[in-house]
Amino acid sequence: MPLSCIRINQTKTIPYKMTKTAASVWNNCLSFIKDNIKPQAYKTWFEPIKPIKLTGEALTIQVPSKFFYEWLEEHYIKLLRVALVRELGEDAKLIYDVRMENAYSSKNPHTVKIPSANRKPFNSQGITLPLDIDKRELKNPFVIPGIQKVKIESQLNPNYNFDSFIEGDSNRLARSASMAVANKPGGTSFNPLLIYGGVGLGKTHLAHAIGVDIKDKYPEKTVLYISAEKFTQQYIDSVKGNTRNDFVHFYQMIDVLIIDDVQFFSGKAGTQDVFFHIFNHLHQNGKQVVLTSDKAPVDMQDIEQRLLSRFKWGLSAELLQPDYETRISILERKLFRDGVEMPDEIIEYIAKNIKTNVRELEGVLISMIAQASFNRKEFTLALTKQIVDKFVKNTKREVSIDYIQKVVSKYFEIDVTMLQSKTRKRHIVQARQLAMYFAKRMTKASLASIGSQIGNRDHATVLHACKTVDNLTETDKQFRKYVEDITKKLSF
Ligand code: ADP
Ligand code: MG
Repeated sequence: MPLSCIRINQTKTIPYKMTKTAASVWNNCLSFIKDNIKPQAYKTWFEPIKPIKLTGEALTIQVPSKFFYEWLEEHYIKLLRVALVRELGEDAKLIYDVRMENAYSSKNPHTVKIPSANRKPFNSQGITLPLDIDKRELKNPFVIPGIQKVKIESQLNPNYNFDSFIEGDSNRLARSASMAVANKPGGTSFNPLLIYGGVGLGKTHLAHAIGVDIKDKYPEKTVLYISAEKFTQQYIDSVKGNTRNDFVHFYQMIDVLIIDDVQFFSGKAGTQDVFFHIFNHLHQNGKQVVLTSDKAPVDMQDIEQRLLSRFKWGLSAELLQPDYETRISILERKLFRDGVEMPDEIIEYIAKNIKTNVRELEGVLISMIAQASFNRKEFTLALTKQIVDKFVKNTKREVSIDYIQKVVSKYFEIDVTMLQSKTRKRHIVQARQLAMYFAKRMTKASLASIGSQIGNRDHATVLHACKTVDNLTETDKQFRKYVEDITKKLSF
C-alpha cells in the first residue's frame, strides 16, 4: 500500500514532454552514472533499480529495500541529482518506491513511496560532484596568475579525513606526520611528506585528510589534490597546446600541492622535469608538498636521481598492513557509520581472513550489506564465508617486475644479476626473455619501463622477447613447460 508521497521540491512544474518515458530517462541517467562510478558499485546499487513512472519532472524508481534507499541517499544522491537534472531540468524530483520487507512474511512485499530525503532543490548551481567521479576536470586548470587569488577547486574528498582514519601500529608514523604537516603546512621539516605503501592501505585517504584539515584550519590557503596521472595528462596537453608556461604558473601558485601515486611519473622524463621545477619553486617559497607512492624512494624505478633526492629531503613514512586489532576497529567504525549491526563472530571472521588491504575489508562489508539487504537475508557466518571466499579468490596477488625476475631466476637457478647482465648465453637469454614476457603479461608497466627494469634494455628488445616467447610456446614443448611452470609459480 503506497503511503503518501511528499515531493522534495514544491516549485513549479515544467511542461511534461511526451517523448520522455520513465525508462528512457532512467536509461540516460544510468549511462551517465555508469561512467562515473566503479563497475562494482554500479552493479550492486544501480542495476537492481527499476524505473516505474515519470510524471512531469518527477521520476519514480523502485528499489529493493529501505536499506537500499538509505544507501543511495547517503552515498549517491549527488550523482543521482546531477544525472536527473541533466535529463529533467532543474526541477527534477526523485521518488523512491520501496519494496518493504515484511518481517513476518516476505512473500507479500508492499511498497512505500519515499521522496528523496535530500530536500534541497535539484539546483545545478549548488551541485558539487562526488569526488569519486573520475572524469572531473579542474575548474580552472590554466589560469594566468593575476592580482587576485584565483579560486581553485581543491578536489578534496571531505569523507577522507583524519577522524575517519583509524590509527594503529601500522600507520601511526604516517598518520602523525600527516597531522603535523596539516597543523603547519610548509612549516615542518616534513617537506615533502612522502607517504608510501601497498595498495588499499590508506595513502589516498591520508593525502586527502591532510588537505581537508588544512582547508579547515587555513581556509585562505590554496590546496590542490591531484593524481600523478592527471598531472601528467595536463602537462602533455599543455605541451600540445603550447601552454606549458601557464601550466607551470598554475602549479606554482599553490600553497599545498598533494600529488597521489607519483610512481606514475616513472619513465616520464618530461613530466619529471616540469615537476622538478614546480617542486623547487614551491619548496623555496615555503609551500607544502605531499606525495604518495606505492614504493619507497629507494625502490622507485625510472625516476631521475635529482627528483629522488628531493623526495628524500623531507620525510618518507610507510603505511604497513594493518594488524588484527586495527582491522577490527576499521570494520567496526565502518559499520557504525553505516548504521549496520553485525555479530562479533562475523566481524572477527572477516578481520581474520582479509589481511592485506583495507579496501578489501570495505569491499567485503559492502557486498555483505548489499547481499543481506537485497535478498533480505540475515548476516550469517555462511554468507560471510561465501563472500570472503570470493574476495580472496578474486584478488590476484599484485606481482612486481622485481618479483617476476626473482621467480624466473630461481626457476633457472641463476642470479638476478646474471639475468639482467648483457650475457648472450642461450639459457640466460631465454630466462631474460621469459621475465620480460611475464612482466608484460602480469603488470601494467610499459615496454620501456619493463626494459629498463630488466637489464636496462629498450622497448624494442622487450617487444621482441614477447614475440619470441609466444612463438616458442607454440613450437617448442620444453619451452611451453617453462611457461606453464613459471605461470604457476607466479599465480598462486
Ligand atoms: P591506497 O591509496 O593506499 O591504495 P586508499 O587510501 O584508497 O588506499 O584506501 C582504501 C580504502 O581503505 C579507503 O576507502 C580508505 O578510506 C580505507 N582505509 C584505509 N586505511 C584506513 C584506516 N586506517 N582507517 C579507515 N579507513 C581506512
Ligand atoms: Mg590511492
